[in-house]
Formats: sequence, C-alpha cells, structure tokens
Amino acid sequence: MSIAAATIGKILWVLGVVGWYVIRYPFERRARRVRVVSGRRTAADSLGLIAALVGMAVLPGIYVATGFPRQADYPPSGWIVALGAIAFAAALAVFRISHKQLGRNWSITLEIREKHMLVASGPYALVRHPMYTSFLLMALGQALLLPNWFAGPVGLVGFAVLFFLRVDKEERMMLSNFGPEYRTYMERTKRLIPYIY
Ligand code: SAH
Repeated sequence: MSIAAATIGKILWVLGVVGWYVIRYPFERRARRVRVVSGRRTAADSLGLIAALVGMAVLPGIYVATGFPRQADYPPSGWIVALGAIAFAAALAVFRISHKQLGRNWSITLEIREKHMLVASGPYALVRHPMYTSFLLMALGQALLLPNWFAGPVGLVGFAVLFFLRVDKEERMMLSNFGPEYRTYMERTKRLIPYIY
C-alpha cells in the first residue's frame, strides 16, 4: 500500500511537470514574436531562474529517476499524496489562468514589451503575482508528492530564491513603467496569497 503511494506520487509529479510545460510552451513561442521595449534580465534574476529549475525539476527529477538520495526517504502516506495531487492540480489551474490573463504581456524574466498593458483582472484582481502563487502551489505539491526529506522540500527552496530575488525588482519595474496606475493597483492587492500576503 505505502509502496504504491510512493509510486503514484512520483508518477503524478512527472505528469504535473509535463502538464506545466504543455501549458507554458505556446506562450513561450508567442513571446518570441512580441518586441521587448526594456529588459532587466540581471545576473540575480538568471540565478533565481536556475535555482527554481534545479529545485523544482532537476533534483526531484533525479530522485524520481534514480531514488537518490535514498537515505532521506520516509514512509509515504496515501493522504499526503492525495493532498499533493490536489495542490499540483490547483497549481496547474492557476498557472494556466494567469498565462491566459497576462497574454502577450508575459515574459520569462523582467521585461516590458511593446504595447505593454497593466493586467489587473481575473486572478490579478486578487494578487499581483498569481503565476508565482502557482509556483508556490507546485512546490507544495512536490513536497507532498515525493516522500523524501530532500527531493520534496527542495522545490520550496528553489521557489523562495526565485521569488525573493525577483519580486521587489519586478514591482519597481512596473512602478517605473505604469506609475500611479500600478501604485493604486498595489494598494488594493496582495502579492501572493489573497487577503494575506
Ligand atoms: N509576477 C506576475 C507575472 C510573471 S511574468 C505573476 O506572478 O503573475 C513576468 C512579467 O510579467 C514581467 O516581466 C512583467 O513585465 C509582467 N507583469 C507582471 N505583472 C503584470 C501585470 N499586472 N500586468 C502586466 N504585466 C505584468
């Protein structure tokens, strides 16, 4: 039973990551055709992206493929795996809705695009960074789906590095581009978690 829960958790994690890429790919393609007016791709931001990739894909991928580091395994629980599946499914839903809402304004890094519009509707009416909310849900899902004290929580570390290296700069960039419009938008929204943070 518990062996099955571990296997199911790993399979769901793989399916979740594949789903993540299926959602993202069309936006990546489209983004290539929208001109960038100003970019703030810094070394710190690239480091954040690498941290997220390592914590949320490379290390858990190695764990799923090889079992490394086996000494950090703990006995899996069906309930925790089920919670992880719910978190991951919610992550993918929020991820897709935010991409659709952001549309041609989306960038993998900090950039202002031609005819950039401030999006403040849909999930953006509740939080300023719903896409990062979806990363947080995904990292939580990973922590619950993989019964390993290293490969599970390391996604949360990768997320935190990306988020905290980026969020102030992103908001400053939006402020310098949209001025008072973004200022009032900030006053009525939270960053990641509706009504809380
Ligand atoms: N932080 C947002 C967007 C991530 S994509 C989220 O988590 O949902 C990053 C790009 O989105 C940035 O380069 C910025 O140009 C753009 N962006 C961020 N917030 C935006 C908003 N409210 N409206 C339009 N573009 C936004």
